[in-house]
Amino acid sequence: MENGIDTSVFDIFKIGPGPSSSHTIGPMKAAGHFISSALQLPVAELGKADKIEVTLYGSLASTGKGHGTDKAVLAGLLGQKPETCDTDLLLGLLADPVKIYKLALGRHKIAFRKENIIFDGKEHSFPYQNTLIIKLKAGRKVMLGKIYYSIGGGFIRCEGEAEPETGIPVFRYKNMTGLIRLVKKYDIPLVELLMKNESAVSGLSGDEINAKLDKLIAVMEDSVNRGIHTEGILPGPIGLHRKAAAFYNRAVHMHQDVDRFLSLLNAFSMAVSEENAAGHKIITAPTSGSAGVIPGIIYFLKNYHGVSQKLLREGLTVAAAVAFIARHNASISGAEVGCQGEIGVAASMAAAMISYVNGKPMDVIEAAAEIALEHHLGMTCDPVGGFVQIPCIERNAVGAVTAYNAYLLASVGDPKKQKVNFDEVIEAMLETGKGMSSEFKETSKGGLAACSLCG
Ligand code: SF4
Repeated sequence: MENGIDTSVFDIFKIGPGPSSSHTIGPMKAAGHFISSALQLPVAELGKADKIEVTLYGSLASTGKGHGTDKAVLAGLLGQKPETCDTDLLLGLLADPVKIYKLALGRHKIAFRKENIIFDGKEHSFPYQNTLIIKLKAGRKVMLGKIYYSIGGGFIRCEGEAEPETGIPVFRYKNMTGLIRLVKKYDIPLVELLMKNESAVSGLSGDEINAKLDKLIAVMEDSVNRGIHTEGILPGPIGLHRKAAAFYNRAVHMHQDVDRFLSLLNAFSMAVSEENAAGHKIITAPTSGSAGVIPGIIYFLKNYHGVSQKLLREGLTVAAAVAFIARHNASISGAEVGCQGEIGVAASMAAAMISYVNGKPMDVIEAAAEIALEHHLGMTCDPVGGFVQIPCIERNAVGAVTAYNAYLLASVGDPKKQKVNFDEVIEAMLETGKGMSSEFKETSKGGLAACSLCG
């Protein structure tokens, strides 16, 4: 981060299949990267390869089955990419335990079976919880081996490889204090600053950025629409019934304003979260587990509050800036800091976005982001059975409501009198996450994950 935060908006908001950015999207990308690396080997060498072996560690091992990590890895090895993958194909992978898949390494084909993916639940000393090692073998000889870390939100790192180069941001900041300083120093509107940085980092023009933001909004709306019109039971052994459609059908007939507002917001956020749990296309915001908060609010603001497309686009860039700061100074991974880094950060992003589209100044935007995150501190990640369903789906609805409330709380009084700033709450989140026992960080060993439902 020498040059300041250099993450793109489109690295935070990514299209991909549910249910988990760190357990589905990250491993799929790692597997795709491995195949590309293998293809750099000389053709004669490649021809000797007879096996690809994948070992999953940490939370990938303990909750990977529930999250479909094995399917995601295989899809990546087969050449699928998160943004364009066929979710029906993905859901059907490995359903037949004896099926043999053919992986293509150029013209050379290698057989791949379910047993080629090893869930190694032992304690490990890798620097990141979610680690996977992929090896290309010829007999007992390892021809290529790579260690990948899935670090949350679908971001991956490959041991020993530099992060891909990005453009250098025009305005360099490392935290919220730095961002506010720049806005004041250059007397520049927040979104103008963020757009200039986005152009520099991604190399896209303003029109191209806007087109991509419109696509994100469309995919978000689409996932809400699917969710509020789909009933039934979600995949997995819990047998959880979808609830968003019933919530929505009841909400549209409500006459009491408060109940109607809350019910609609709940319905829209849960709709996306249910679509995520079903393994369908969603947008990481900032993760898949927390994918319902921002789209739920966007859908509400657009369709029930008349907020323009332009303001929504701008609001998304403001929300992304909150995620940049959280990611660079703490983490957005449930396996690293618990759910405070997923739903907590999503609510914080959403609170900043709501404040922005309501025309609030920078200090209110910061205060709203701070308040929303502050009230998620200490929140564990312990999904029942390792499935992103309980508590995740309802937690998205609660996160959306908290975000709206944080905006209201920040809008009254003088935000300059706010005693805790956003950077301090980010630091507190990191400290809390470090102090949290690993049982409560997506390992399926404690908390709700140990409840009677899981046997
Ligand atoms: S409990 Fe929170 S952090 Fe954990 S999987 Fe669910 S949404 Fe993500």
